[in-house]
Amino acid sequence: MNNLLERLEQLFPEMVELRRYFHQYPELSFHEEKTPAKIAEYLTNLGLEVKTGVGGNGVIGLIRGGKPGKTVALRADFDALPIQDEKEVEYKSKVPGVMHACGHDAHTAALLAIAKAVSEVKNELSGNIVLIHQFAEEITPGGAKPMIEDGCLNGVDAIFGTHIWSMIPSGEIGFRSGPIMAAADRFEITVLGKGGHAATPHDTIDPIALGVSIVQQLQQIISRRIDPLQPAVLTVATFHAGNSFNVIPDKAVIEGTVRTFDTNIQDFIMEQMENVIKSVCEQGGASYDFRYSKGYPAVINHLPETELLVQSAIPVVGEKNVKEMAPIMGGEDFSYYLQKVPGTFFFTGAGSQEKNAIYPHHHPKFDIDEKSILMAAKVLLSAALAYLEKH
Ligand code: MN
Repeated sequence: MNNLLERLEQLFPEMVELRRYFHQYPELSFHEEKTPAKIAEYLTNLGLEVKTGVGGNGVIGLIRGGKPGKTVALRADFDALPIQDEKEVEYKSKVPGVMHACGHDAHTAALLAIAKAVSEVKNELSGNIVLIHQFAEEITPGGAKPMIEDGCLNGVDAIFGTHIWSMIPSGEIGFRSGPIMAAADRFEITVLGKGGHAATPHDTIDPIALGVSIVQQLQQIISRRIDPLQPAVLTVATFHAGNSFNVIPDKAVIEGTVRTFDTNIQDFIMEQMENVIKSVCEQGGASYDFRYSKGYPAVINHLPETELLVQSAIPVVGEKNVKEMAPIMGGEDFSYYLQKVPGTFFFTGAGSQEKNAIYPHHHPKFDIDEKSILMAAKVLLSAALAYLEKH
């Protein structure tokens, strides 16, 4: 078991090859076919117990250890995004308008390499490792929830996952106990007024004037009603109304997002929003439609598993490269796994000037330093082995 990290180093060229294969043939969330088929084939060839079609397009592989012990899960997502690849590299996407612009190809390659390395010495393994290859992370309702409902966490004692991150320099690991990624919700408000001539506003119910008032009062919720030490974002991102300078329209449509880490604050904001919309519309004689859809819950890491991760990462990347990070206001459906079993989700740095990995995630020129795949694999595996050894 001691040589597993060396074995991963030997497998680095294969990780790059796998990542570049997935990079060239990306598939959109909920439409993954070739990707899970390739993953299942790879795991089956290693002699693992493989299940396909888990919760939809998910794949799980079980490495059953030769000795008794706990079961730890490692998760990698594998969906891509509706973005045209604008990089000039030999491995650029061959699918028009679809691109691995978030690094899920790298997550998949790292997990497959772990599967190969561990399967070669599985008789010596105390406990089991479950490889969760998840579909559809990018779009709610996501793949994690249906995979859990289909039993992917049955018998699992703890879980670890990572996200390759181009905004962190390659060679560093970012960790955090507690909240690390936000709940990402979406809202749509329609103010239903009464249209008419712009010269006779008294004969109309002006949805623009009321909508503007709503937008302004919504800003007061975060600044005046929420504890300043509690992070929360309320952004109005669209406001659509009218199409002529001399006509008051019938309605105004306002859309935006709310980001929080605490479910009480999330519910409070939702209530307060309805209060604002209701009172403004009632006062102005308008009616309204308010739709609030909750996205993924916040990703809340567990303390013991995060400490274990830090201890496992230090020998791999060096103490100065294991850094506590600030929470990110983006969302992730890894949250659902952490609601069921203890574990932690961490970030693996992939940024590099030299490798032109300087663009943010979801950018048409997004790329990574491929060394990060090896780093991700080593840290994930070290954490899994440390967990099995400790328990
Ligand atoms: Mn992602």
